[in-house]
Amino acid sequence: MAGIMFQDITTLLLNPKAFKDTIDLFVERYKGKNISVVAGIEARGFIFGPPIALAIGAKFVPLRKPRKLPGEVISEKYILEYGRDCLEMHVGAVKSGERALVVDDLIATGGTLCAAMNLLERAGAEVVECACVIELPDLKGRERLNGKPLYVLVESH
Ligand code: IMP
Repeated sequence: MAGIMFQDITTLLLNPKAFKDTIDLFVERYKGKNISVVAGIEARGFIFGPPIALAIGAKFVPLRKPRKLPGEVISEKYILEYGRDCLEMHVGAVKSGERALVVDDLIATGGTLCAAMNLLERAGAEVVECACVIELPDLKGRERLNGKPLYVLVESH
């Protein structure tokens, strides 16, 4: 789309050292914090979430687009810059009282992370923090997270 710059993390994945360093930065921050759930947002949260989950000894819970998960789900609709979308999570994947980290590649307007946090909180989990590789701070997505902390590695203006 004209005037829209798409931030692409696939070049990072081509460099094993850079990819590992990225994962290690998150692992350093979250190990030993009693986090039992890493929730990754489809699709690029599925790239960064699982290696973090394995390294800190947490389970990985995929938050998926509608009609992708085979079991019973809870859904959370949200507004995008252009249109609407929805995220789903399996019922029973997260237990009440668990401490969760939400992972995605990028925060733009913050709507996606907000929906993800709502799903986890509806299941009774405590969202400790959201973690992204890239933030587009000009879109002020951080302000939509209801005060929940957000950790990012790179800001892109
Ligand atoms: P938000 O809900 O507006 O914060 O948008 C964030 C979601 O859209 C994330 O799941 C991102 O993967 C995706 N997204 C939005 N803009 C970009 C981009 O420039 N590059 C990669 N993903 C993006």
